[in-house]
Parts: sequence; structure tokens; C-alpha cells
Amino acid sequence: MPVSSSSMISVADALAQMRESISPVTQFEPVPLAALVDRVSAEPIQASTDIPAYTNSAMDGYAYLSSGLPKQDGPVTLKIVGVSQAGHPFQGNLTAGQCIRILTGAKVPSCVDTVIAQEQVKLNDANQITLLEPLPAGSNIRRQGEELTAGQTVYQPGRRFNPVDIGLLASFGYASVKVKRKLKVALFSTGDELVTPGEALQEGQLYDSNRYALHALLERAGYDVINLGLIPDHYDTIADRFEKASRTADAIVCSGGVSVGDFDFTKQVLDSYGSVGFWKVAMKPGKPFAFGKVNNAYFFGLPGNPVSALVTFDQLAAPALATLQGEHWQSRQRLCLRAGEVLKKRPGRADFQRGWLREQDGETKVFSTGPQGSAMLTSLAEADVFIRLCAEQGHVNADEWVEVEIISAPLR
Ligand code: AMP
Ligand code: MG
Repeated sequence: MPVSSSSMISVADALAQMRESISPVTQFEPVPLAALVDRVSAEPIQASTDIPAYTNSAMDGYAYLSSGLPKQDGPVTLKIVGVSQAGHPFQGNLTAGQCIRILTGAKVPSCVDTVIAQEQVKLNDANQITLLEPLPAGSNIRRQGEELTAGQTVYQPGRRFNPVDIGLLASFGYASVKVKRKLKVALFSTGDELVTPGEALQEGQLYDSNRYALHALLERAGYDVINLGLIPDHYDTIADRFEKASRTADAIVCSGGVSVGDFDFTKQVLDSYGSVGFWKVAMKPGKPFAFGKVNNAYFFGLPGNPVSALVTFDQLAAPALATLQGEHWQSRQRLCLRAGEVLKKRPGRADFQRGWLREQDGETKVFSTGPQGSAMLTSLAEADVFIRLCAEQGHVNADEWVEVEIISAPLR
């Protein structure tokens, strides 16, 4: 565990320190395809067969051997002597001047080498076609093994399976895969002012929103969430709940109470009952962020402000949890775009401003989602990207280039 630090550390250093001190779970279990989304592979996956498994037609059309075409000027006419249908391959043989009807996905028999689409022929009668245009030999055929060959490694251990991966695994005929056991993550909110949605608010109270958003993020990441509710700002209660949670959970995620206010006890509890890695990260929204351990459970203490809680979870806790789960973590895609307007920023901390993408003068530019207060969830709900501005950077002028991180990824 790294040394406790009262000075600010960079996002990159925070990530590196957490990665270094986390040992991934080692237990694994077989899981059927239907339950595999977002599970993390515990084994390398090889292709069981060639993909495609057999040479097949990419079109509805007619198949012939190009070297068997009559050598003549003008249109070529072929006799249809059979059919190859998906699931019902053609079994016979062809002689010169013959072809077969073939349908998409049907096996291409070894006696032919070219498929012509049905739109490129004239059907003279039920048994005869005329080719309307010349076609290079080998056209419209998907060759056996052209995508993958049997035995080829497709995924390394640590792959988090997405819906497309599951399709590929099914195409190999695998019914189940060995994956790491799911992480158990305990979740709390702390704060005397917090009220559970559905209950009435008294003066000076507000609803606990972090626990609901974090619960959804943790579930979406594929973890078992142990939702342990609200903890008041009371040292002994916090200590007791953390200690109990550490007995069943691999990790504890908690929001609120990590700064140095009079009633912020999280760090004090960690200091006495476990260990604190660091607790100030030079990022905005964010800054107070505790990483440590309570007994054997890793602890992630997020700031209370809702946007800060979600952005520090996304940028710091999520990669660390992924490492603990055994996932080979890849950060999201980033690209450079021009700012469509002035973006305000003070030098000092790395900013994760919330932005959306809009066309301006035929170019995709990035614009602020509006007021960026760390309690304003609306700034994040509408965002397409994080606009990542480095710590030293000041205001950004309109048309200046900035780095953006794409937040959404629909198919995966
Ligand atoms: P704290 O980090 O505990 O100092 O809280 C910072 C701000 O975030 C305060 O305005 C809290 O009321 C607010 N806050 C803390 N926890 C939550 C929560 N679970 N849901 C919504 N707001 C919260
Ligand atoms: Mg608080």
C-alpha cells in the first residue's frame, strides 16, 4: 500500500499507484453464454474451427467454374443443373457450360469457383441463364478460414466480454467460458443530511443520489453490489459498517465525508482501521478521493458532490475495480477536436469538463454542456464526452484544439 499523502497527486500517478497495489481475484467459474456479458475471461480463447467453417456464397445467384465458360464473344449462356441452399449443399458435379443456383451462405462446392449475383444474369427459362457482365474468377465467395483459422487465439485472459464477443464465442460452438468470479462490491453513502428517495425531506436535507447512480454503474460493470444504505456522520458507526462490509466484500465504495471538514470521518476511520493510499487527486471535479484497505477489502472513498462522485468513480475507482476483477483495462478512445466556444478553466488541476459534440461550419466541434458545478448532474447526463484539460492549462479559446474522451460506446 502506498504511503499516505496530504499533497495532491496526478490522475496518472493515482491510477499507477492503485494498479501496483491491487492483486486481482484468482477464482474462476464456468458461465454459459447467456450470462456472459461483462464477465472477464479467465482463460485464453481459441477459435475451435475455421471461420467461415466452409467456403460459402456471399450472394443469392449462380455458381460456375470460370475456366469452364465457353470461350466466345458475346453473351455466355449456362445451363442450371442443381442448387446449393443454406444447410443443403449441392452434391453433384458440373461440366463445361453448366452452373448451379446458389443462395447466400450456402456451401460453394469444389467444382465451382465463382458466384454471379442474380441481378447480373438474365433468367431465360427455369433451366438457363445468360451472364450479363463479365466477372473476375473467385467473385462473391467467402473462403473457409478467411476471417479466422482453427486454433488461432482470439481473446487473451482478462477480456471483458461484450455482446459482439458473445456472438463470436457462439460461432465457435462454445456453450460456456471460464470467467473470473464476480467482484462483490459494498456500497454506502455517508452524510447526516441525506434521505432515501421515497421518504419526506426535512429542512436542510437532500436526497441521496450517489448511491443510486453508483449502484447502476457497478451493476453495469458486472459486479455484485451489496447496497448497505446510508451511514450518518458518526465515527463509530462508520468504523463499524466499514469493518462489517470488509468481511464479505472485495471492495467498498463510499461517497461523502472524504475531505477534511469537521464531520468528515472517512479518512480518520481508514487511518485507524485500515490504511490510506492517498486522498487528494489533482482533478476537477474531484480532489478528495481516498484509496486504501479495510482488512482485506479495497476501499474507494469518493467525494460527496454528485458529479465529483461519478467522475472520480469513472476515472479512478472503475479502472482500479477492473484491475481487481482481473480485466485487461483499456481507457476510452480520445481524440482532438476544436472547441466551439471559450471554455473557462483555472490552472492547477486536470479538468474533466462535460461536453457535447455539434457541427459548426462543416466541422465537428466540442461545446460545454453548460454550467459545470460539481453538484450539477444535468451537466453529465447530457454529455457526449469529457473534455480533458491538463492541470497547467488555463482558459481555452474558441477554435483551440482540445482532447476529448468519448463517453458512449453503443454496441460494446
Ligand atoms: P461531502 O463530500 O460529504 O463533504 O459532501 C459534499 C457535498 O455533496 C454536500 O453538499 C453533500 O450534501 C453532497 N452529497 C454528499 N453525499 C451525497 C449523496 N449521496 N447524494 C447527493 N449529494 C451528496
Ligand atoms: Mg458529508
